[in-house]
Amino acid sequence: MARSAHAVHPGPAPRDTAPALAPDARAAVLAWFDARGRALAFRATRDPYAILVSEVMAQQTQISRVVEAWSRFLEHFPTVQALADATPADVLRAWQGMGYDRRALNLRRTARVIVDEHGGAVPRDVAALERLPGIGPYTARAVASIAFEQAVGAVDTNVRRVLGRVLGGPAGPGLPAAWLQAAADRAVDPSRPGDWTHAVMDIGATLCRPVNPRCDACPVKAWCAFARDRADQPSGAAPVPPRTNQRPRPRRVAFTATTRWLRGRIVDQLRAADGAAWVTIDPPIGGHEAPAVRDAMQALARDGLVELDVGDPARARLARA
Ligand code: SF4
Repeated sequence: MARSAHAVHPGPAPRDTAPALAPDARAAVLAWFDARGRALAFRATRDPYAILVSEVMAQQTQISRVVEAWSRFLEHFPTVQALADATPADVLRAWQGMGYDRRALNLRRTARVIVDEHGGAVPRDVAALERLPGIGPYTARAVASIAFEQAVGAVDTNVRRVLGRVLGGPAGPGLPAAWLQAAADRAVDPSRPGDWTHAVMDIGATLCRPVNPRCDACPVKAWCAFARDRADQPSGAAPVPPRTNQRPRPRRVAFTATTRWLRGRIVDQLRAADGAAWVTIDPPIGGHEAPAVRDAMQALARDGLVELDVGDPARARLARA
């Protein structure tokens, strides 16, 4: 389908009926990527394991932080086998600065599954990738396309926004996930799936911002329903998405008041300790008093990140096994 961006489908769309990008639009996106795509260190590798690590890191962390952490992590664990053999404590120390520490443990579990069930080679197909611990639909498709050049569309928040706007206009990003997934699968350039994935991610990160997208610099503007609607606005302002029955947004809680922040500070204290030394965690931590600190330590132990001293549960260390 060429430039029929307003013809949005209200429900799930099988791949062959999802709207498709015009071949010229694909070519324009890839030409833009060749000239202006982000030259990130982890894009230079062809090693599926290194690509898998970068995609897990990028799930919830800014790319600028991922670049340095990725190199450091691979120095510690250059192969799947090295990661599979590591202790949780080793992996958590190498994960420093990344946040969402459970990802590190899932990555180690993933390495063990790859060694035990896939002969040490990262699986190629999406279904097998999705069965790995902590690997969701987006990461599985990103790895399949980037590491193995499979023509599958990886849909994260940025890609949802780009493709949704291009194909569906202002309401596009809110269309059903299955519809967008089908459209994303169909949009992939089959001759360059990995570059396509990177290109759409880069457009989402650098041009197609949530507010005030830079349509004039965007390679897909000529085929974009959102940009066309925007041009039709009297002031050239961004079109307003149709209102949906959204619930009111919950009030924002300061990050330092969250359990996630508290867990991160406890793990940071344990990371800083030597080897297997026990560390006494003294409340309060920030505004979190003793009961909250105790609950967070117990939750960290249940999640396999830390061990608590049975004789003194105020003492902990990073998990050794
Ligand atoms: Fe986003 Fe504008 Fe590009 Fe469309 S033309 S994809 S709205 S930046």
